[in-house]
Amino acid sequence: MTTPTESTTAVTANATRVLVLNSGSSSVKYQLLDMRDNSRLAAGLVERIGEGTSRVVHSPLTAGGAGKRERIGAIADHSAALKAVAEELALDGLGLDSPQLAAIGHRVVHGGLRFTEPTVITDEVLAEVERLIPVAPLHNPANVTGIRTARALRPDLPQVAVFDTAFHATMPESAARYAIDVATADAHRIRRYGFHGTSHAYVSRRTAALLGKDPSEVNVIVLHLGNGASASAVAGGRCVETSMGLTPLEGLVMGTRSGDIDPAVTFHLKRVAGMSADEIDELLNKKSGLMGLCGDNDMREIRRRIDEGDERARLAFDIYIHRLKKYIGAYYAVLGRVDAIVFTAGVGENAAPVREAAVAGLEELGLAVDADLNAVRSGEPRLISPDHARVAVAVVPTDEELEIAQQTFALVAPEGV
Ligand code: ADP
Repeated sequence: MTTPTESTTAVTANATRVLVLNSGSSSVKYQLLDMRDNSRLAAGLVERIGEGTSRVVHSPLTAGGAGKRERIGAIADHSAALKAVAEELALDGLGLDSPQLAAIGHRVVHGGLRFTEPTVITDEVLAEVERLIPVAPLHNPANVTGIRTARALRPDLPQVAVFDTAFHATMPESAARYAIDVATADAHRIRRYGFHGTSHAYVSRRTAALLGKDPSEVNVIVLHLGNGASASAVAGGRCVETSMGLTPLEGLVMGTRSGDIDPAVTFHLKRVAGMSADEIDELLNKKSGLMGLCGDNDMREIRRRIDEGDERARLAFDIYIHRLKKYIGAYYAVLGRVDAIVFTAGVGENAAPVREAAVAGLEELGLAVDADLNAVRSGEPRLISPDHARVAVAVVPTDEELEIAQQTFALVAPEGV
């Protein structure tokens, strides 16, 4: 198999499209973008890979494109999934063999200490991403499979890895190191890496633009609240602290993850409850957070239950907000001066009650939300703080695919495109 080398990273001037692939353990999400105007040409996903009832949903997004297509049927593995994606794109005249395709950008969850920038994928890079599997066992294997499959399909095409950890590489050692034995930590590469970095980078930059400032001029607390959730403190465009750690388990209360917990809880579960490491892993990653607290991980459902007077849902919401507030306070102290707090991702962009509750009572810190502005539903970046507020509170929809596409294209585009 031929593999891209430095000389193949330059593409022709009419190659302006980037396919973004986000390969999970049983799913592949994709978007095809045209980098001349950042427009989306197609988007879709393959889910339940390896099951009898796999599903492909494909939406052509070009002007005049036909509507969404959906098909159900067995898709055995990632290779078959990517072939299905290629077929769907080809039906719209956007096939992977098009000379207009400049590169494929892959989301890779863990870049360790080695990858702090988007990186053109070579055999050596892929081997290093594989070496990181022990620190990201839930994510990197699927990312590696996605990359292998895409390279087999188009061995001549530049492929770029964009790492979820990269934006956090600027954290000082005081924030990145855990207070454990240094030799043990270093031997096993144990430290805070942080995740959702592509989102934190995009959203913090977009927030600076919303304030009419350069990113270097502003300090921002980013609250990425999706099913997974993380906070970051960004000083002058550089990340100085983030809530996820060695893995995405640490920090905020999430849909199904516990976030912060006394590490001794795990010994207790092992010694007293007799649980295995895998069972504890499953408990804390899949059966905790909002789901563990009230049986639902969707904030819409939790708000509906609260409106009906459900006490368990109310307590889950309160615990979620309490943790969020602790992080806002902590990151305020880390930054010293805060220009903006920004909410993003599914919950952050849509759940007005979460935004309201997270900053309630923080007026002394210059934080407030205008009820009318907070109630507005919009897909646009917007301010929700009152005019006089010392700290801007903003909602900025995240766009990880666009960020990955832009970072990918920047590496492979010929000069002047
Ligand atoms: P992820 O990418 O981590 O899977 P998303 O950023 O897509 O997650 O966020 C998904 C979550 O967003 C859902 O689980 C749900 O809790 C929340 N969400 C989506 N829409 C709304 C809404 N209208 N109101 C409240 N919460 C919402």
